[in-house]
Amino acid sequence: MILPLIKGLILTLKRFLNPSTCATMQYPDERPKLSTRFRGLPELQIGKDGREKCVACGLCARVCPSQCITVEGAEDETHRRYPEIYELDAFRCIFCGYCEEACPVRAIILRDTFELATYQNKDVFDKEKLLDLTRKRDLPR
Ligand code: SF4
Ligand code: SF4
Repeated sequence: MILPLIKGLILTLKRFLNPSTCATMQYPDERPKLSTRFRGLPELQIGKDGREKCVACGLCARVCPSQCITVEGAEDETHRRYPEIYELDAFRCIFCGYCEEACPVRAIILRDTFELATYQNKDVFDKEKLLDLTRKRDLPR
């Protein structure tokens, strides 16, 4: 009866005295190491021509369970479809990844954007803001 208790106390003491097992992180000085499967805010992708990959099919908005995506498509002079309006309400996104799964051209990807604190009571990311998240990464196209 007493032996398991002593074992438990020894384990607790070992953990307590070993700084490498400390769970508290000195954020933001220390950055968290995110899993490769982490899902942050969805980001719009840029194609080889430097324009958004999105073809404004609206599938992401259809599958989004929290209905936080608004897409309005248009056609340019070459009859290419593009999103004239693309908005994502970050307050309502639940980071489920359905939009990424549904997109037929991989134009929206959830990467590691998670620092979304704001003093506003609404945070709608428009097309340019969502593209900027990708531009910052300087990814090969
Ligand atoms: S991650 Fe989920 S909740 Fe967020 S925009 Fe995509 S489908 Fe909607
Ligand atoms: S599913 Fe992809 S291509 Fe279609 S509107 Fe959404 S981001 Fe654009």
